Amino acid sequence: MSTGFDIIVVGGGHAGCEAAAAAARMGAKTLLVTHKFSTLGAMSCNPAIGGLGKGNIVREIDALDGLMGRVIDKGGIQFRILNASKGAAVRGPRAQADRKLYCQAMQEALMAQKNLTIKEAAAEDLLVDKNGRVEAIVTGEGETIYAGAVILTTGTFLQGLITRGEYTKPAGRIGDPPSVGLSKALTRIGFKLGRLKTGTPCRIDGRTIDWAGLDEQKGDPVPVPFSFMTSEITTPQISCHITHTNDMTHEAIRQNIHRAPMYTGQIKSTGPRYCPSIEDKIMRFADKNRHQIFLEPEGLDTDSVYPNGISTSLPADVQDAMLKTIPGLQKAKLFEYGYAIEYDFLDPRNLHATLETKAISGLFMAGQINGTTGYEEAGAQGLIAAVNAALFVGHDSINGACPTFTPDRSESYMGVLVDDIISRGTPEPYRMFTSRAEYRLRLRADNADQRLTDKGIQLGCVGRERRIVWENKKKELERVRHLAKEMKASPNELEKYGISVNKDGVRRSLSHLLSYPGMDWQKLEHIWSDIKGWAPEIREQIEIDAAYAGYMERQEADIRAFQRDEALIMPESLNYKEVGSLSTEIRQKLELARPKTLGAASRIPGVTPAAVIALLRYVKKSKQDLKQEDVPGEYE
Ligand code: FAD
Repeated sequence: MSTGFDIIVVGGGHAGCEAAAAAARMGAKTLLVTHKFSTLGAMSCNPAIGGLGKGNIVREIDALDGLMGRVIDKGGIQFRILNASKGAAVRGPRAQADRKLYCQAMQEALMAQKNLTIKEAAAEDLLVDKNGRVEAIVTGEGETIYAGAVILTTGTFLQGLITRGEYTKPAGRIGDPPSVGLSKALTRIGFKLGRLKTGTPCRIDGRTIDWAGLDEQKGDPVPVPFSFMTSEITTPQISCHITHTNDMTHEAIRQNIHRAPMYTGQIKSTGPRYCPSIEDKIMRFADKNRHQIFLEPEGLDTDSVYPNGISTSLPADVQDAMLKTIPGLQKAKLFEYGYAIEYDFLDPRNLHATLETKAISGLFMAGQINGTTGYEEAGAQGLIAAVNAALFVGHDSINGACPTFTPDRSESYMGVLVDDIISRGTPEPYRMFTSRAEYRLRLRADNADQRLTDKGIQLGCVGRERRIVWENKKKELERVRHLAKEMKASPNELEKYGISVNKDGVRRSLSHLLSYPGMDWQKLEHIWSDIKGWAPEIREQIEIDAAYAGYMERQEADIRAFQRDEALIMPESLNYKEVGSLSTEIRQKLELARPKTLGAASRIPGVTPAAVIALLRYVKKSKQDLKQEDVPGEYE
């Protein structure tokens, strides 16, 4: 038996690393229990961080002083801003990672974290006290370790089963054993677990690829860091290459489709719709005669290349046959064959927005275990769960309700993610897209610190160093924003500098002029030479403000309307049977999700506008009735 910790995090993947670091930053005495120290921060699938929507999440994690942004800045070997030529709201930072460097940087960051102990062990069981509160984990060696809260971040490991053709093997991912005991413990406690699936492509020996003739894809000439704390990327940068499948590849797959586990019925669970396997792409999009493959080096000192776009669970001989048809890969030798993995997950409708389970108090879940897919989605949940777990254990129950951190849809992609999964569930692995966010203009990658860092400081999850950097930036931003509105020139003054506008006598501000097509800083510097001293990152913000000014006003109005609905809290004990005119189907959906707010109720698929109005009336009326009960009668 071991003496206690405030928080135990089980699993050292992307959710677990972020959770352990955040809990410790919050001052909680934290234990991270994971199978192997060496796989802390390991990327099970593609060696890349970020992308559209996902890159915004990494910036949000970073804004709350999380690790992922700083770690990829050390381990990144090709940085690109996706959609760089488009507006700021649709840009997404992405970086190709050197797997080894990424893990090293993650491990160093965790080792340097105060309040954090790391233990190599398997969590095999959970103990819950008679009040329904989690109290301990039990390791494979039989050690019982007590804690005020436990965060499970077991990824693809719960009853993991890998499949390649006819071959199957219990595993958490290739080379790692599955987690069986914990899955059984969750079932014993009363959770109903589901099954999902994902897959990965082969890994190719780069020395056997014929690179000549393949399209080269370079990174950005000046790599832009993920973290608001990184000033420059110093890791050497590499190129990726692009090839394509063709009719012969598709034919090789079609001829063997009867051996594809997804089509033989061997794999029954649902996979990520937006990252389909190559066999799935060929069967579902039969009219497409080629699919793109990015050949992504897995590191600076390895020959391993990740062929992004051909994840598969076809038998090894079919994978060989398929590669022989692809330009550049005809003589390719493999380090590893692709495979699929099925694993247990918990329907996230069993969770509060804090990521605490509704059934067991103090038990939190984050990452792939909640039915999501992707490192960034996992990291974000790890951070949210840890902040809430730390608030939970640090909270003095005598002093009223426990404070929580539940970012909403209008302030972060993290908020969108959690709201989506807890209200809709994850019938298929959930990944982030920009289209999932209603308020994309606001949820940009460039302004994550402006949206979240102050909140992080208030919560206690942002350290001193970042606080100082942010507070200096905030001051400078406020100063320059003010100046950009105050610095004005008349049409005649502008004409002297070759800028022609309507001769209407209106003095136009610098921020207004910036929104004119063809306007640039050089032209403005001629008028106001002082602005040469404004830092590039501050200038970027002023430019974005100018470009989005009109749209932002409209979006802010939408956000206010959204916040009104979010402000209407649905009582936890609400008896949906008492709400008139709800169909049985809608009532059951509401009972399952138990949405916290009217807004969350309205986003449950199948909940109609009429049902939302019925709920609104019912909740308002119950609140009114309660108020009247509180007020002493006239004659009392
Ligand atoms: P993981 O990164 O899986 O980490 C789980 C950690 O928990 C591991 O360190 C493990 O050792 C530890 N652990 C588990 N159980 C226990 C226990 N009982 N005791 C102690 N430690 C434990 N993502 C995509 O976005 N797109 C894809 O196409 C994709 N394909 C994938 C293909 C494969 C084959 C695999 C394995 C994963 C794939 N992923 C894909 C998923 C991606 O790897 C995950 O989304 C991400 O790693 C989830 O992070 P996590 O922290 O939740 O879990």
